[in-house]
Amino acid sequence: MTIPAVNTDAFRREVRDFLADALTTELRKAAELGFGIHREAGAAWHRKLYERGWVAPEWPVAFGGTGWSATQQHIFAEECALAGTPMLMPFGLGMVGPVIYTFGTEAQQAQHLPGILDGSVWWCQGYSEPGSGSDLASLNTTAKRDGDEYVVNGQKIWTTNAHKADWIFALVRTNADGKPQQGISFLLIDMQTPGIEVKPIVSIDGLHHLNEVYFTDVRVPVSNRIGEENKGWTYAKFLLGHERTGIAGVAGSKRAVTALKAISQQENAGALAEDQAFMSRLAVTEVKLAALAQTEARMLAALEAGNNPGDASSTLKILGTEIQQELQTLRVEAVQYYALPFELSQIRGESNANPPGPDYAVSAVADYNFGRAASIYGGSNEIQRNVIAKAVLGL
Ligand SMILES: Cc1cc2nc3c(=O)[nH]c(=O)nc-3n(C[C@H](O)[C@H](O)[C@H](O)COP(=O)(O)OP(=O)(O)OC[C@H]3O[C@@H](n4cnc5c(N)ncnc54)[C@H](O)[C@@H]3O)c2cc1C
Repeated sequence: MTIPAVNTDAFRREVRDFLADALTTELRKAAELGFGIHREAGAAWHRKLYERGWVAPEWPVAFGGTGWSATQQHIFAEECALAGTPMLMPFGLGMVGPVIYTFGTEAQQAQHLPGILDGSVWWCQGYSEPGSGSDLASLNTTAKRDGDEYVVNGQKIWTTNAHKADWIFALVRTNADGKPQQGISFLLIDMQTPGIEVKPIVSIDGLHHLNEVYFTDVRVPVSNRIGEENKGWTYAKFLLGHERTGIAGVAGSKRAVTALKAISQQENAGALAEDQAFMSRLAVTEVKLAALAQTEARMLAALEAGNNPGDASSTLKILGTEIQQELQTLRVEAVQYYALPFELSQIRGESNANPPGPDYAVSAVADYNFGRAASIYGGSNEIQRNVIAKAVLGL
């Protein structure tokens, strides 16, 4: 693929102009809830990007991508993060979408890709089960063939957004013999199918992102299977490569660095900005982030050349999440005792009352607490180190 040279300054201006117009104060406020964003607000932002043709920069042009170079994608992500745009749910655009356009049938592509692109259909990810997280291949949710349908029974857990989603992509066991990896299939399941029950798990930040999903005799057409039966592990790993690249959150961390610099000018009448210990930790984190941004740019270039990020995305995941956690720690330390009030209605964006401290202190502890999960989801960082040792370094 030949990518035309672009004037990056002009492109950056174009993105900024768009954001200045499209990102309303309301949407900016809704963005602060992260994953907890209400579906309407998330969908409203998604729609604006879709209408501009910018919702899926990483997708091939033939399927609705932008055709941008790696640099343009980078600029776009950076400008969105710096402006504080709402997060786009990753489960459709960043996970199952690429699986469907890479391995799906034409019928599956026609059925699912338009709804992912325009944001009208929300997805969730049914991988983890109680007892099958890091050791995902041991999963026990079964799918037994009955004519043109599978009958699915079992339980998923930690399913982000299952209560908001229309569809779930699930790994199921279709063969119990042989190596566990060779008996898994990848199914697309309508959440309205009889026999699916979603139960909430409220996490330590006080928000409801997570769920348990139970399947009891859920009938799924065989035509909803991606690729071949028992080859689901291949598609699942392809998807995880995309997921881990996204979790690095480089642009979001740049925004957090900028915010912390501003906070340091305000806290204790600017005395924090003179605090050598605090500011040098912030500087070290910023340098690590600059290095990570370069690694991410290399990976984007590889993607652009048609390569899957594969196992190297584990590096991005580890470093990106460590940086996010350090920045969350610095924010709690920066706001000091204003981190102590834990007002759920304020954290959930449901209160009009003034918080006791500055606005930027309200969710400092909630974000810090939930941020611990970033080194667990998408495959824990310990597992990523194992992946790097084996698959990247060949140890
Ligand atoms: C906030 C959040 C959102 C999530 N969203 C989703 C979702 O939408 N869909 C989904 O399917 N899943 C989701 N998950 C699940 C997530 O993928 C799993 O939690 C993760 O894979 C770890 O699995 P586990 O919880 O079973 O922990 P375990 O696998 O039991 O691990 C426990 C600890 O042991 C360590 N460990 C385990 N095995 C090894 C090993 N071989 N070597 C070294 N250390 C090891 C782990 O690193 C971890 O510290 C989410 C999790 C969280 C916290």
